[in-house]
Amino acid sequence: MLLYQAIEELLAAAAAQNKKISELVLADQAQQMEKTEQEVYAQMEQSFDVMCDSVLQGQGPNQRSTSGLTGGEGFKMMFYSERTAGGLSGVFMTRAMSRALAVSGCNAAMGKIVATPTAGSCGILPGCLVSLYEDKKMPKKDIVMSIFTAAAFGIVIAQRACLAGAQGGCQAECGSAAGMAAAALVELQGGTPQQAADACAIAIANQLGLVCDPVAGLVEIPCIKRNVSGVMIAFSSADMALAGIRSEIPVDECIDSMDEVGSALPASLRETALGGLAATPTGMKLKEQVFGPAQH
Ligand code: SF4
Repeated sequence: MLLYQAIEELLAAAAAQNKKISELVLADQAQQMEKTEQEVYAQMEQSFDVMCDSVLQGQGPNQRSTSGLTGGEGFKMMFYSERTAGGLSGVFMTRAMSRALAVSGCNAAMGKIVATPTAGSCGILPGCLVSLYEDKKMPKKDIVMSIFTAAAFGIVIAQRACLAGAQGGCQAECGSAAGMAAAALVELQGGTPQQAADACAIAIANQLGLVCDPVAGLVEIPCIKRNVSGVMIAFSSADMALAGIRSEIPVDECIDSMDEVGSALPASLRETALGGLAATPTGMKLKEQVFGPAQH
């Protein structure tokens, strides 16, 4: 486990050692796990390979979730991207959306995914990183290293706030994932650690207050589509930070605020499936469709 309690500490350590955040984290992890840096890197590379596989699996035309509530979104989005030369958002972004949908779909079908940081938000980081790897042809080594940066931000969020929808709402799952991805994207694009922190702060700010309301208690509706929003927020936040736009509120304060907002959310909006979209008439009907009529 890393020792950083604040992103500020992480930035200070990176500056003091004149390292990228990922290099700092890899060295720290290796030391704490009593492994070589090569071994720790190889483990992370395996995780990235799983991300790539889950994209492939989830993009199949016949992909269906175990509950039968969802399926095929990754395929439909990729087909739309090809058919419309990128639709409104452009080829790169629609392909990234397809990957986020695919990984979330793979999860809903009980396929193997990397929880980044949770299963519900597992499409966001791969949606961003696999797209840079496959479509922008970024070197695999750089992509794998950027996951260490994402992880460092995630660890600090977990320590200062939380990563579970049941505790902090969807802002904690998809918000954290978008923040982690935004930081990784900035590093991959050659931005500074401070810009990575700003990107994470902006991403979190854009998801603040997001409730957790999974229909039938399953990580499908609205979770799968929220992964696409997370990808869009990660890219736009990274671009803002790279353009030199600062987050007026420092990232650690954004994280603390996320914690406070999460605690203020009523229990019905924290993964209990008792409120939000889960409690709509259609949400209740879908629950019955999966589990049968409620017993009174
Ligand atoms: S709505 Fe809840 S279960 Fe779904 S991704 Fe968000 S936090 Fe996770």
